[in-house]
Amino acid sequence: MSGTTFLGMPAFPQAARDALGDAQLRRNLAEATRTIRDKRAEAVGELPDWEELREAGRAVKEHTLRHLDRYLLQFEERVTAAGGSVHWARDAAEANRIVADLVRRTGRSEVVKVKSMATQETGLNTALEQAGIRAYETDLAELIVQLGHDRPSHILVPAIHRNRAEIREIFRREMGTGAAGDDAGDAGPLGDEPHELAEAARRHLRERFLRAEVGICGANFLVAETGTVVVAESEGNGRMCVSLPETLICLAGIEKVVPRWQDLEVFLQLLPRSSTGERMNPYTSSWTGTADHDGPREFHVVLLDGGRTATLADPIGRQALNCIRCSACLNVCPVYERVGGHAYGSVYPGPIGAILGPQLRGTASAVDRSLPYASTLCGACYEVCPVKINIPEVLVHLRARVVDSRRRRPLPGWERLVMGAARWTLSSPRRLAGAQRIAAAAARLVRRDGRIRRLPGPLAGWTDARDLPAPAPESFRTWWRRTHP
Ligand code: SF4
Repeated sequence: MSGTTFLGMPAFPQAARDALGDAQLRRNLAEATRTIRDKRAEAVGELPDWEELREAGRAVKEHTLRHLDRYLLQFEERVTAAGGSVHWARDAAEANRIVADLVRRTGRSEVVKVKSMATQETGLNTALEQAGIRAYETDLAELIVQLGHDRPSHILVPAIHRNRAEIREIFRREMGTGAAGDDAGDAGPLGDEPHELAEAARRHLRERFLRAEVGICGANFLVAETGTVVVAESEGNGRMCVSLPETLICLAGIEKVVPRWQDLEVFLQLLPRSSTGERMNPYTSSWTGTADHDGPREFHVVLLDGGRTATLADPIGRQALNCIRCSACLNVCPVYERVGGHAYGSVYPGPIGAILGPQLRGTASAVDRSLPYASTLCGACYEVCPVKINIPEVLVHLRARVVDSRRRRPLPGWERLVMGAARWTLSSPRRLAGAQRIAAAAARLVRRDGRIRRLPGPLAGWTDARDLPAPAPESFRTWWRRTHP
């Protein structure tokens, strides 16, 4: 098992119920996801060949996964030839250990980081802290999360659950007082306009960048043909992280590899339009090995398995590894929009989190068993996914896996009784007709406006969160016999 589930998180139904009670959170999320959704739709609508691009992206990813062993070895060979080193990590603990050792070897106790899902997945910041190393997040949204002692709630916009006023408060508290006329702290006299918040973050980060000797990044893509690490981001902070320090360490999942440099032509069109609704990415940095007069003198890539090989072995579930982390599926998901990312209890929230988490970590924990059910199966995620991951198909597949994993355990008594009674009833047309007559008669006692608002006893769980349509007064067969004598 690998990766981080947020400690102490309840399973999704309980966490979602708590989140639904937070009206401010729902307002923040609705506003943010609507804005990103509209931008994405406009950007995608501009391209007449969008469907062909999606198909090309899917094809490249599937081809790579089929030959992953070959492309990973090619990547290692090219990185080594360019003066870098590749390290292989079976799980989160091993990846963290390798990175901490590499930092220790430099004699430094501080690192700057560009936003990386893989390092969140392994809980790298905590592991580094335990090794006496301080990691500074430099992506603006990650910085907000770090200074707020918070958890990320979105793949692309980790602080999506915060509004400007809340961010201003975090900056004032953590960077300096920011009172009018007081510019002693990093925050200075601070309002909540985006440019003021960005300026405060810039001042706060500038000094960390200039003294940083070690940079840590993730990767959007790893190019096997050239041994190149590609980082796509919006603010330029990532570029500082990969080019200023003496030592650069990249931690990335093994599925990030693409065969050829030319494949980026497809993904660098799909990614920005799907994620931020932009035609191209503001900053795309690519790094290959080391050079004598420029950039890091040491270059390391740590390749993380972390449950990916096991996922690859599943013919249906493996499509989750095609993900390019654009977050389009989160922004259209009606469940995510209402409950936010924390309810999913892991670093990958939303529809992709619901299929990736239980595969990378297995379904042993209550959180992971609940995630395949954290969806309405409406299919909106499948429609927007730039690499055509059939998320509803994988969700249903994982639900079956959850049921199978519990098949040998005794069901709660009442549930087994109800299922036994249902089998007995449905196996005979005569018994089914009798049950329909009884249900219609019973429904007359509890129905209001054609719906049942509350079922009694253990059945109440069905009506806790939804109404039940009342059974028809007569069955189709009875109606047919009556109207077609
Ligand atoms: S599953 Fe598809 S839509 Fe969701 S983040 Fe991954 S690539 Fe984007």
